[in-house]
Amino acid sequence: MITVTRPRILVVGAGFAGVGCVRRLERRLSPDEAEITLVTPSSYQLYLPLLPQVASGVLTPQSIAVSLRRSRRYRTRIIPGGAIGVDLAAKVCVVRTITDKIVNEPYDYIVLAPGSITRTFDIPGLTDHAYGMKTLAEATYLRDHVISQLDLADASQDPDERAARLQFVVVGGGYAGTETAACLQMLTHNAVKRYPRIDPSLIKWHLIDIAPRLMPELGEKLGDDAQKILRKRGIDISLGVSIAKAGPEEVTFTDGRVIPTRTLIWTAGVVASPLIGTLGAETVRGRLAVTAEMNLPGHDGVFALGDAAAVPDVAKDEEGAVCPPTAQHAMRQGKVVADNVIAALREKPLRPYKHKDLGLVVDLGGRDAVSKPIGIELKGLPAMAVARGYHWSALRTNVAKTRVMTNWLLNAVAGDDFVRTGFLSRSPAKLKDFELVHAYLTPEQLREQVGGKGPAEETSG
Ligand SMILES: Cc1cc2nc3c(=O)[nH]c(=O)nc-3n(C[C@H](O)[C@H](O)[C@H](O)COP(=O)(O)OP(=O)(O)OC[C@H]3O[C@@H](n4cnc5c(N)ncnc54)[C@H](O)[C@@H]3O)c2cc1C
Repeated sequence: MITVTRPRILVVGAGFAGVGCVRRLERRLSPDEAEITLVTPSSYQLYLPLLPQVASGVLTPQSIAVSLRRSRRYRTRIIPGGAIGVDLAAKVCVVRTITDKIVNEPYDYIVLAPGSITRTFDIPGLTDHAYGMKTLAEATYLRDHVISQLDLADASQDPDERAARLQFVVVGGGYAGTETAACLQMLTHNAVKRYPRIDPSLIKWHLIDIAPRLMPELGEKLGDDAQKILRKRGIDISLGVSIAKAGPEEVTFTDGRVIPTRTLIWTAGVVASPLIGTLGAETVRGRLAVTAEMNLPGHDGVFALGDAAAVPDVAKDEEGAVCPPTAQHAMRQGKVVADNVIAALREKPLRPYKHKDLGLVVDLGGRDAVSKPIGIELKGLPAMAVARGYHWSALRTNVAKTRVMTNWLLNAVAGDDFVRTGFLSRSPAKLKDFELVHAYLTPEQLREQVGGKGPAEETSG
């Protein structure tokens, strides 16, 4: 008897790119055409652009954790874990499950969409003392931490400690950092009304960036408008400035200023997931170099996209331009990559990814926002309506849409109670605790893992 095995498609990462791809594969491939497997540490797709609203308490964490299993055509096998190495020659992906079991997962086609991690530099004390803003846990921690600073400042009899606890530093003037600073400043601004012992003028937010402009993608005028809005709200913006060193109770800026603070939030850009480094393939500033069809040159069944890949931006005339790491691109690339995997499977030609940027929406907390949809510059309420409308429509399930809308309405009507939930409050929560850069295999470990044991064998548990 001849056993016919279906081709195995392995998708790594359940973010905008990975989920976009899986959903399309489920829709366009019949179950007997291929087996689809997804490797992901979490059981949800995180809607990252709304993370600052979780940190500031406008949305509950659950509302932006979109279920992977709520889909009409859902049939994908999900491996709960993270890929820690890919052996291109053996066509094996090594996975560490959430119980730390190491599993070799063979594939015929692999779609690499593990996204990015926070970019850090060799700044003394940075990873030990800074908070990140890239995961749901980090956003939740940050909210608790900021509220705890108000609680502690309120209780303190020491004026120096009080002042230090009420200073907050955010590094990174891209949209992630700007939104984080703006939304959290709005949180402390609203919360302080419930702390009659705290002088509101002691609360100081610093937003710093080494670049000469905030959110250069917005263009000069809208970028200036955003700065004006934030400065008017009392946020101190310093451009051309970074961090020289970070300690537990103070941060030193590169311009020599020393800020006593217990809160350093680091959002100064992203780099591709360390998984990409395990392939030993060519990269462009850390992102995997792929063709416009999102295929790894020389490896027909290997595709990569989203933040992890340098996908050529063919919509731009510039030579060597690659798509910026945005959700907008990742989501759309997911669909095209699925079509290309199917085309490869059916021996049809692949198509290049081409998408013209639709613009940017930036929520600055409360009623403040700036946005530039299809080149039209907006600020204030119209910008807010566009920003929220865009995010709302981009949420994948109706349940997530309902949760987010209900949260927005509830927050608008009832406000926030500024409650610290305290879950895991005594666990480590700094950058070094979340980035997991040491979880990945070295080339030697990968060779040993894949070569030493046969595919699909488990080696520990
Ligand atoms: C605070 C913040 C605000 C943002 N705001 C905007 C915005 O307004 N507009 C916009 O367009 N973009 C925004 N972005 C950027 C946008 O979120 C990213 O560009 C987008 O998420 C990239 O999609 P992705 O699928 O490549 O990666 P992600 O969405 O990050 O997904 C990667 C997935 O892979 C998983 N993963 C990671 N490593 C592994 C591994 N080794 N094995 C298996 N799975 C793994 C992760 O858990 C995650 O589920 C924002 C980002 C942040 C952090």
